Amino acid sequence: MDLPPAYKRAAPRRAAERPVSGPSSTDNFPSGEAWARSVLIAPLPRVEADLAERWPAVAGAPAAVRVTDLVDLRRGYWRTQVGTRIAPAHPAAVERGTRMHRTLGEILGPSAAFEVQIARAGVVGQIDALLDVPIELKTTSQAVPAEELLERRPEAVVQLVAYCALSERARGWLALVAGPRAGPFAVSVGEFEVGNLADRLRALAHEADRLRDALGEGSPASLPACRWYDRGCEFQRDGLCDCSGKEEEERSPIIFGIAPGRTVEPTRAEWETAWNRSPAAPAPPVSSFRDLVYPRLAYMEATRGRTEGYPRGPTSELRRRLREVLEAGPVGAVARLLPRTEQAPDLIESWQGEPTLVRTTHAFARPTPEEIARSAPQHALELGFRCAAVGIPNGRLVLGWERAPAGQIPFRVLRYQFEPLGTFSRMWRERVLALEATRRDGRFERLAACPAWRARSCPYQPECGCPAGRTSR
Ligand code: SF4
Repeated sequence: MDLPPAYKRAAPRRAAERPVSGPSSTDNFPSGEAWARSVLIAPLPRVEADLAERWPAVAGAPAAVRVTDLVDLRRGYWRTQVGTRIAPAHPAAVERGTRMHRTLGEILGPSAAFEVQIARAGVVGQIDALLDVPIELKTTSQAVPAEELLERRPEAVVQLVAYCALSERARGWLALVAGPRAGPFAVSVGEFEVGNLADRLRALAHEADRLRDALGEGSPASLPACRWYDRGCEFQRDGLCDCSGKEEEERSPIIFGIAPGRTVEPTRAEWETAWNRSPAAPAPPVSSFRDLVYPRLAYMEATRGRTEGYPRGPTSELRRRLREVLEAGPVGAVARLLPRTEQAPDLIESWQGEPTLVRTTHAFARPTPEEIARSAPQHALELGFRCAAVGIPNGRLVLGWERAPAGQIPFRVLRYQFEPLGTFSRMWRERVLALEATRRDGRFERLAACPAWRARSCPYQPECGCPAGRTSR
């Protein structure tokens, strides 16, 4: 591999690192003793080197803009400025999301990749499903025929065209699933031809620059009117934006010259039948993998009130960049895997086919597998649960190093091997049962305590009493 000179200089010869069992310390995760014996952690030097080759180009470019922020530039501006409201997911929304993914998975089968993430030309997008065409799926209360989608749902068409450009596909499908309020689901599937892909990608990059310029100026004045003004925009409702509703309207140049969609039959009819056959999906017993890793914290947040605020704190810049460097790889390398169990709270993020976590550390020295196993056992636990959800015994951790000296590659890539994987399925069941029992009787002491570092700034510590009141599971 031919690293740039600065990186060659900064990469001293190191002895090969051995795999370690982990996590080894019970100090950092009081409940870690038993499951730690099922984890083996090893560096992945070749994978790390491949990423390192891509890193300088990604790190030296302006931060990528999300396609969803280009759909309506003004909302994109305010979303970036003030953050997104994090509200606990409504059970109906959780049910809808679970059903949507399960039904789409059944319809498309293993040949499709789901929630594919791609970064190109300073723009990053997440495609609901990718076959030989990208598929953008929307749920809605009102059916819209494919031929009217361009007029009535231009934002969704903008998204689809952006995904065609990012995935280098000349056409894409926009699927709208309406209902069911009283009657059955109505599905429309519209195919859109996007024309010259290079032109579309240029239009995307141009829109991304407009948003960056507005953010740089600290004013959205140059951006077109928000289509959601007086139609339920949360930034207007919460008094967070200064839009007046009199701004100039504009059709997105991303869909310039696009012809209306045409219905894709018999696909549309087949999907509609599948949707109406699909039974309602029960909400999973936990709403996130975080709740499985920190069940006591999850219980406290649910019963004492969540203290995480709105607006949300900024995501680590390094973490965002690490995602970009993965997403800049081949189309389909970053996708989400469909879990094998309905108990899973989400699809499973993966990279090159293995469940993957992207995290960062503020360690003072370059993190070694031993140090990561000791100080951050939560990564092993979370990856173990995610691997159990898809039945894959290997996962990956891409760990950014926030304090990396200038010129050094600021990340590690590690493989976590879980043997036997059943340890994590069993622990998952035990934790769910314990949470359910605690919801009934309030005896939170039975729930696994969080790692010591979390307790130091935990608002529930006076009541909960950890780490002094540790439990072993
Ligand atoms: S006090 Fe400790 S165990 Fe309790 S919720 Fe907070 S971090 Fe978790």
